[in-house]
Amino acid sequence: MTSSNQTLFEKSQQLIPGGVNSPVRAFRSVGGTPIFFKKGLGSRLWDVDGKEYIDYINSWGPMIVGHAHPEVIKAVQDVAENSLSFGAPTGLELEMAELINKLVPSMEQVRLNSSGTEATMSAIRTSRGFTGRDKIVKFEGCYHGHSDGLLVKAGSGLLTFGEPDSGGVPASVAAHTLTLEYNNTQALKDLFAKLGDEIACVIIEPVVGNMNLIVPHVEFLQTLRELCTKHGAVLIFDEVMTGFRVHLGGAQALYNIKPDMTTLGKVIGGGLPVGAFGGRKDIMQCLAPVGKVYQAGTLSGNPVAVTAGLKTLALIQAPNFHVNLAAQTTKLIEGLKAAANEAGVIFNAQSVGGMFGLYFCEHCPTSYHEMMQSNKEHFNHFFHSMLDSGIYLGPSAFEAGFVSAAHSDEDIALTIAAAKKAFQSL
Ligand SMILES: *Cc1c(COP(=O)(O)O)cnc(C)c1O
Repeated sequence: MTSSNQTLFEKSQQLIPGGVNSPVRAFRSVGGTPIFFKKGLGSRLWDVDGKEYIDYINSWGPMIVGHAHPEVIKAVQDVAENSLSFGAPTGLELEMAELINKLVPSMEQVRLNSSGTEATMSAIRTSRGFTGRDKIVKFEGCYHGHSDGLLVKAGSGLLTFGEPDSGGVPASVAAHTLTLEYNNTQALKDLFAKLGDEIACVIIEPVVGNMNLIVPHVEFLQTLRELCTKHGAVLIFDEVMTGFRVHLGGAQALYNIKPDMTTLGKVIGGGLPVGAFGGRKDIMQCLAPVGKVYQAGTLSGNPVAVTAGLKTLALIQAPNFHVNLAAQTTKLIEGLKAAANEAGVIFNAQSVGGMFGLYFCEHCPTSYHEMMQSNKEHFNHFFHSMLDSGIYLGPSAFEAGFVSAAHSDEDIALTIAAAKKAFQSL
């Protein structure tokens, strides 16, 4: 019997490259047919065949209060009646700027746009305009959206210039991007000793969620902060994923480190397209129309998207929201570890706030290289067994998972029961 998922996927591939509008959705890494969804409510999703799932992707993070939260939906419906867009300022944008500044005080000034990619791209341009320097530094395995200069892999050897990681990126663009190993403090010191005064900015995921979950060594982040200050390089925390998720004030509040600039996305739009970048006022004053760094957007600060974000951010300010989210996520990973242990499977897991990582290796990895040691075949088998049981995990061994406030004890128990079965079949 052909499922509606299969039919839709076959037809989609005729008209949409790979059948998807973002590559990881295609299930290439795990194999099989991607699921086409038609409804979500709270922690649950339903696909086009009517099958129900417990969702651990949460649209890659934004759905932190659960799908179709009645207050978010109502707020969006109400504001939509006043028109979907003006291309002119609204009071809602000011409300959002005030709220961002309150929750993430290092963002003294902020500008809204429509995606995380735009936020990081614009933060980098601003830092180049501010410093008058071209070189940027990123870390291996960190993802900062799909702009040209950020799709770069490490060259051979330390301190070499980057090479493009994607077709269509000129080598001359990638050459300005230097790539270092995450959590490698010595490599950082070496690079700054050699090129520190030529570096416009360092961009980093302060907790990495794009090569599965990797936790920073606090001393690594502190050294990074000191070196950037010493050499006048702009430190950008890319909190598109971690913002409002690992802590109400983001990873910078969790680790008590103040970046010069911050980028936001995902949760800040509550499921609609919103991104933001901001930071020190002297840096942000470089932006047009006050400064000479150009940045713009037809739908930037869109009233409907901003309203979905404002309502979501209002809900997550409830007392103990993040304490409860973290506790629920911990319950999940402890249950998964116990289930793997019982089945004798080599497995580990950890969480930060409402983000978690699952690894088919003994220790929780601390770098891209270590992450690559995780047993991909085991993950893929585990993924499909969980999917059969109605548990929807990220379709790749190298993605983080997300818990929402809607995930109940029953959801966690059902997930652990499914995992027992999955681990035992390995
Ligand atoms: C998702 C993500 C981005 C890109 O955001 P988009 O909205 O997909 O463009 C950038 N940085 C990080 C850390 C992300 O997780």
